[in-house]
Amino acid sequence: MQKIIFLKYGELSTKKDNRNYFLKILNDNIKFVLNDVNIYYDYGRMFIEPNIDDFEKVIEKLQKIFGIHEIVIAYKSLDRDLDNIKENVINLIKDKEFKTFKVEVKRSNKKYPVDGMELRKIFGSHILKNKDNIKVDVNNPELVINVEIRLKEVLIYFSSIKGIGGYPVSSLGKGLLMLSGGIDSPVAGYLAMKRGIKLEAIYFESPPHTSERALNKVKALAQKLALYNHNIKLHIINFTEIQEEIYKNIPHEYLITIMRRMMYRISALVAYNSNAKVLINGESVGQVASQTLTSMNVINEVVKIPVIRPVCCFDKLEIIDLSKKIDTYETSILPYEDCCTIFVPDHPVINPLKEKCYEYEKLIPYEDMIYKAVKSKQTITISSLDNREFKDLL
Ligand code: ATP
Ligand code: MG
Repeated sequence: MQKIIFLKYGELSTKKDNRNYFLKILNDNIKFVLNDVNIYYDYGRMFIEPNIDDFEKVIEKLQKIFGIHEIVIAYKSLDRDLDNIKENVINLIKDKEFKTFKVEVKRSNKKYPVDGMELRKIFGSHILKNKDNIKVDVNNPELVINVEIRLKEVLIYFSSIKGIGGYPVSSLGKGLLMLSGGIDSPVAGYLAMKRGIKLEAIYFESPPHTSERALNKVKALAQKLALYNHNIKLHIINFTEIQEEIYKNIPHEYLITIMRRMMYRISALVAYNSNAKVLINGESVGQVASQTLTSMNVINEVVKIPVIRPVCCFDKLEIIDLSKKIDTYETSILPYEDCCTIFVPDHPVINPLKEKCYEYEKLIPYEDMIYKAVKSKQTITISSLDNREFKDLL
């Protein structure tokens, strides 16, 4: 018998008409991460055959790939003769310690001459005969012995490891994540990837008001996200001129509102050029003045592209929990200033009026400045494979 890994797809297997499309992307995503491993799949299972020493490493990597719901270590045999299957089962359990067990049989090969119920009984009594001091417990067994009789092969396995679920990254297209150095936006990006969205990211910097370190922090966060995403294109926008013009010319209670309208406008243009179909950000209802429902309306109205806010209904503590789970928290809480924190007014408007925004925006040549900012953007590609590079710069 050969020790292998197979994957269960969960939600993916409900995608009847375009299941192949999803599976091909999942297969490509896994191949990218495990480049020298044999992989093949059918509608029910994806099989991975690592070298015998690599199982742990491979499983760790698979646990970061969206679209995988369960990871199973199994023993595969092409021999479907019933007596040989029985012997294989005994060989696999003989060194296991348990007092109670049950057998689960899955017979996806409907032509196999013995049906599932019957097979379960046959295996059960054979196990009882060959091991002492054990009994069957169908409700709460210590060991579940799974036997799957498939068209070509037989799989025997005992337990599974939970995958992270979701859809394979890229299968739903591309989105542009507004990535600040904070806690919320990396979590938002993670959740968007979970639903199959391939990320590009955009960061607004305002040198010299923001430091190189603040930029490195964002790069380090992008790299954490790239672990789930292969690589992430990060667009860096110089926002200094726009921000200074706003600061000089616009009543301070409207600074944030207008600044965010500019960010949205620029993000929408960059998304359009990258063929990204949605913007994604870390806004959360009520968190700050610019995230009241009225503010969100007034800010959002400058773009047509849909804006996804994956953490909009999470409490801050829930967002923090998730950021710890995906290992972005420690980077996010590093102290380096980003452009918003520098230009924060004492009393930002909570219920801005869009008429006022139009009036104030006439005071600055924002269309030209936006054009310039987009034209001079820098784009770098951050890969999950060249780890540590940015961390060392922090
Ligand atoms: P985070 O929300 O990520 O913790 P934050 O609290 O500093 O960071 P907010 O002021 O709450 O950010 O802004 C809301 C959202 O706007 C962020 O989650 C992010 O998606 C986006 N955003 C804010 N600042 C920037 C920036 N400098 N570059 C890109 N996106 C930004
Ligand atoms: Mg926030």
